[in-house]
Amino acid sequence: MILIMLFFGSLNGAQAANGRTDVSFTGDYCYAVTDLSFQNSAFNDLHFLCGTAPQQYQQKSLWLKTDPAYAQPLTNDIAIMLNQTRFNALSVGFIYADGVVRWKQVRNGDFGTFWRVGGQLRFTAPNRSYPLVSTIMRFDRLTDYGLLHIRYMPEGKASQESASVAAVVSGALMLLVICFVYSLSMASAMRRPQLLWQTAWAGVMIAWGLVWSQMHLMVFPSLAGASSAQFATLLATSAIALGFFAAIHPMPKQAIPRWMRATNLWLAVLIAVAGVPLAVIRHAPIVYLDKVLGLIVVVNLLLASASMVVARRRGYRHGRDMIIAWSVPMLVLGFISVVNIDNQIWGGGSKLVVLVASSWLAIWSTLTATRRVHILRDERDAAKREADRAMKLALRDPLTGLNNRRGFQDHVARLMDYARTEQLPIALILVDIDRFKSINDRFGHDVGDHVLCSVANEIERWEGAYCAAGRVGGEEFALFLVGVDGLELRRFADAVRRAVSDCDLSEWTGELRVTASVGVAESPADTHYPILYRTADRALYNAKNAGRDRLSITLVGDPSRDANGDGLALLR
Ligand code: GH3
Ligand code: MG
Ligand code: MG
Repeated sequence: MILIMLFFGSLNGAQAANGRTDVSFTGDYCYAVTDLSFQNSAFNDLHFLCGTAPQQYQQKSLWLKTDPAYAQPLTNDIAIMLNQTRFNALSVGFIYADGVVRWKQVRNGDFGTFWRVGGQLRFTAPNRSYPLVSTIMRFDRLTDYGLLHIRYMPEGKASQESASVAAVVSGALMLLVICFVYSLSMASAMRRPQLLWQTAWAGVMIAWGLVWSQMHLMVFPSLAGASSAQFATLLATSAIALGFFAAIHPMPKQAIPRWMRATNLWLAVLIAVAGVPLAVIRHAPIVYLDKVLGLIVVVNLLLASASMVVARRRGYRHGRDMIIAWSVPMLVLGFISVVNIDNQIWGGGSKLVVLVASSWLAIWSTLTATRRVHILRDERDAAKREADRAMKLALRDPLTGLNNRRGFQDHVARLMDYARTEQLPIALILVDIDRFKSINDRFGHDVGDHVLCSVANEIERWEGAYCAAGRVGGEEFALFLVGVDGLELRRFADAVRRAVSDCDLSEWTGELRVTASVGVAESPADTHYPILYRTADRALYNAKNAGRDRLSITLVGDPSRDANGDGLALLR
């Protein structure tokens, strides 16, 4: 797009060389300087000087008369395009062969119908039967004649150019708005400094685009003129500074040397600060300041580009994206700092190119941000999977795969809440393998482990929505039940005991039958877990004492009596 625009720009240049359509000030005009009170109608009395540069006009009126030799042939369908609005008032006079002068006038706060998108003013010659012989312009309090760019062209071409500039400006601004909204929403969602800088940059770029191109006059016509131009300057330098911040600040500390980062950012601050006098000053030094600022920008560009290359070399993973995103606007900024193209590209000049280059940056940054979100999401998913795995491992017994003590208690806590809400009975069943030490001693630890795993397999079968299972000690397992009591509970606990004793372990323990003793605590819903555990442990102790491979049930709150109400209940 930029290339296309530069191509059109070069066409303009060619026409200028043929003469008569594109005129720059020095040498093309004869000038006069008068007091502000001088009447337009008396311009014939003025003595015009040619071939030198005007002086001392900033507080006065500067008159420019088209050199007839240069402006030949002036045709009646001529339009004058002007891209400088730092003045208090401008009158354009079209002088006809019969001596009649037709004036058109704009002043600060009132550009009437003469303003065009792209920061230009357009004056078309009134249609008269006498030929147009000359034009004259009167600038009141012009900031600097060196910044003037005045072009003459056929009216049809001028309209075409205005439409082209308006289309390009609207398109670029639209892209910037999309980038702004996207970055803003992403910045608030992800809290990344990069996105915040990008949002700020896009916001200022949009404001600059609107004010520079004069689009804002559609809504606020009274802002026309020097104050808007001054504000645009301030926005432009802020946008450049923010751009540098957006490129450099989010880089990790180790990606570039400290001095590089500091110099980059301080130069950016300097650019932003320099914007203030550039915007405020309305007399000659502005041109020099402008040149100094251009130089600082170029230095900063070179440094920022070097920083990106260094960061990329040091393995900064977004380095490549940044180089692609920033290279175009940086090249453009560098180019227009060296080459003056202000008369080119339908008169939109360097500003139009900057706007288009910025929309490239906006698109690329938006794509990059989206890609980063994908990367972040993948990283987050992987981290979550890892955390889940670690969590599971922390709650699981590595040997048997059952819940460990913590996992078991977590599950029990949830079930106890549920039992309390529903007022359901609860029960804790402790299963302890009988004389397990002797199995280890006789057959070795490996066989002991096999036995533990086989018993764990049996226990795990009961685990479910209302039953937690776990390995709570070396050879001690536990089951926690909700909603089962009395005879049903007893049957269940005995089924667990039998499941262990019926387990076929002959492969490892030969003739030796592995059995387990079972202690059960039966309770209403609101008993605390430690009480339940102590009760079940006492019941288990009773079962062991009574000869092992049996079941003992104790009701919480009545340790002396079993569930049958007839003393210690020991079943086989
Ligand atoms: P009781 O019938 O009174 O319960 O006798 P016991 O031998 O089963 O009980 P004791 O508490 O004296 O011994 C438990 C043994 O379990 C001691 C320990 O070496 C063994 N043990 C604990 N954890 C493991 C394990 O992970 N693998 C193996 N193989 N043995 C274990
Ligand atoms: Mg034991
Ligand atoms: Mg034990």
